[in-house]
Formats: sequence, structure tokens, C-alpha cells
Amino acid sequence: MRKTALKNAKTRLEDMRRGLLREIKDDLRQGREGAKEDGMDTYDLASEERDREINFILGDREREKLQSIESALSRIEDGSYGICENCESEIAPARLDAMPFSRLCVSCQAEQEKEARSQRRFDDERAYRRLATTEVDEDSA
Ligand SMILES: [Zn+2]
Repeated sequence: MRKTALKNAKTRLEDMRRGLLREIKDDLRQGREGAKEDGMDTYDLASEERDREINFILGDREREKLQSIESALSRIEDGSYGICENCESEIAPARLDAMPFSRLCVSCQAEQEKEARSQRRFDDERAYRRLATTEVDEDSA
């Protein structure tokens, strides 16, 4: 990957991380004001507790996004950025432009989504069969 492209990706990832962390801090501040009304001052919390608080406030999606950004930044550092984790081919620059934290090339991503979809279908069918069995049981009872 070209150095300028890498530098751009790094800048964008850092911007994304900053934006995400700012949102989290805003949420934390609101939580802190709420806590103060209860006579607590969360400024005194040990950092371990604060981390737990952040984890609590972070939704799964935000946490995943933050992790994707962090790991993309560390891939930039170790030189593996822009390489598909599955087939080790280069990820298309346009794709990295749209999603700077992509870890898979387009075809591997499509493959993975197809697998996820068929797994979901399998789960749905199982749930349906369970439902059908329950209905039969109720009829015979
Ligand atoms: Zn691939």
C-alpha cells in the first residue's frame, strides 16, 4: 500500500476513534450528573471501575466499532493493513476508502456473509421445528 494512502487511512481511523470516544464521554458525563444527584461523585472512581462503566454504557455495536478501529490502527503500525485476513490478497482501495477498518477483501466478506445467512436460516428452521413439535404435543395432550 502507498504511504500516502496509509497515512490517510490512519488519519481517518483516528478521527473516527476520536468521534466515537467523544460520544462515549458525553454519555458518561450525563451518567455522572445523574449519579451526583444520588450523592455520588464518579470522578473518584478508580480507572478500573471507570473502564467498567464505559463498557456498560457502550453498546455492543459501539464496542465492536471501537475494536475494529483499534485493530485497524495496529495493523497500520505492523504493516499488515489493507491485506485480507482470509486470502491475503490486497483489499481494494475503494473498499478501504468506504470502510477503513475492513479486514477482508470483497469476495471473502461476501463469502462470510453468505455463511452467516445460511447459519441464520438453519437456526430459524430449528426454531420452527421446535415450535411445530410443541404444537403437536399440545394437540395430543
Ligand atoms: Zn480475501
